[in-house]
Amino acid sequence: TVLLRFAPSPTGALHLGGLRTALYNYLFAKKKGGKLILRIEDTDATRAVPGAVDGIRNALEWAGIEYDYGPGKNGPHEPYFQSERLDLYHSHANKLIESGRAYRCFCSPDKLAQTREKLARTGSNATYDKTCLNLTEEEVARRIKAGEKFVIRLNDSNLPARNTPADLVFGNLRDAHASLPTDPVLLKSDLFPTYHLASVVDDHEMGITHVLRGEEWLPSVPLHLDLYAALSFKPPHFAHVPLLLNPDGTKMSKRKGDVQVFDYKRRGWEPGAVLNWLALAGWGTQSHNHSGTETQPSSSKNAPDSTTVMSLPEMIDAFELTSITHRRTVLDPIKLEYLNKHHLLRSMASDGNLSKLAERIHPIVKTVFPSSQYTTVPYIKQTITAMQGRLTNLQDLPTLSPFFFVEPDLTTHEAVEMFQSVPQATHDAFLDSLTGHLSGEVPWDVQSLNDLLHDEIAKLGIKSRSAMTVVRRALTGMKTGPSVADVMHIIGKDRTLKRLEIARN
Ligand code: GLU
Repeated sequence: TVLLRFAPSPTGALHLGGLRTALYNYLFAKKKGGKLILRIEDTDATRAVPGAVDGIRNALEWAGIEYDYGPGKNGPHEPYFQSERLDLYHSHANKLIESGRAYRCFCSPDKLAQTREKLARTGSNATYDKTCLNLTEEEVARRIKAGEKFVIRLNDSNLPARNTPADLVFGNLRDAHASLPTDPVLLKSDLFPTYHLASVVDDHEMGITHVLRGEEWLPSVPLHLDLYAALSFKPPHFAHVPLLLNPDGTKMSKRKGDVQVFDYKRRGWEPGAVLNWLALAGWGTQSHNHSGTETQPSSSKNAPDSTTVMSLPEMIDAFELTSITHRRTVLDPIKLEYLNKHHLLRSMASDGNLSKLAERIHPIVKTVFPSSQYTTVPYIKQTITAMQGRLTNLQDLPTLSPFFFVEPDLTTHEAVEMFQSVPQATHDAFLDSLTGHLSGEVPWDVQSLNDLLHDEIAKLGIKSRSAMTVVRRALTGMKTGPSVADVMHIIGKDRTLKRLEIARN
């Protein structure tokens, strides 16, 4: 059975790229009936941001990605914060020293810089001359005792044979070892591990079977494999997911707009749609490289295309590691709109979810229409249903249908245009007749109201289009919206009659 981990550093808010990595980890773990760990990689105290762990956890919770073990969820692999696992890294580093696969290095930063320069001048690829590898035990003991600072370096001589590393997404990584630094640092002088040591030790100790992470870590694979070999650990499988790009091919960054998960929450996007959007960027039949339009045939028969609407369980079902592309993938905002609309439609089909949507938009509606008395959750629920298929984003409700909450503004350009598109005589005649009819005892359900409108139109012998424009203008002041009968039904008889009367004058 598989065990995966999502291992963010708490250096800030969770970004879309991080959420997609978490999602792919989750999908693969669930698909295989395995488990997912949330591991917090907090060994770089200088980069830690207070509150970042809570932010990451909240973002995952909002998205609906539930990890099996991690902060707040006890389990067999505790602790889940690297800062609480320092002893483990020290003990493995010491074991490496004992076996001659690592050594203490006392060279100062200045000395190291000089060495690097000298090596570069002689045309060498090495980044360190291994001076400290040759210190005697006595010398080492003396310098430690004198309080000299040191780091622990991997000794890259005499490592077991290196094979070409393989990645489940990127394939064989040829010449991967060529650019490795000489004897990379494993433990820093502050006794904190580097990312590489901590990551390898934890992935081994926790029993991680698949390391699925961002493309930016791909160059670390050969070093990690060296470490696995030096520690005599069996390495896990590696799968790296390609970078996300903006539609113009540039790397996603804060300056270019919304990249944090919480930006999407704040803007009212459905979490399921955001996940769907992220999942499909990099998965399926259609994937674009940075120059634009290249497509890649899918490896599995039923692979979703780049606009397939999927719930989380459906994504789990369809997910294959082999269908992740290694090409950098474009995140197209238009696709999010499309997917969001469809996720909203799906939610509306269930009464429970519809109530949740209404509760979510409730505070916004109240803020936009502070003096409206028509902002209760059950009322909002009806308006959402009436707007079914018209909402791209739930937060568009107040803008697209203000007439449910406040009286329509008949002075807008749009309302005036509607008024002018129908002959005044027709306009007045229809409003008069309709008002007369509606004032009597009439059943106030959508079907009856529809029938009534049509009877009225037939009776007067006017064009149905004109008649509908007249009553729609009166009730909403807008050209588009739900059916007129829906609006009448929701706002009720009193408000309907009042609006017809105002429109008549
Ligand atoms: N802590 C790393 C990050 O923040 C994760 C690298 C990994 O998954 O191995 O991106």
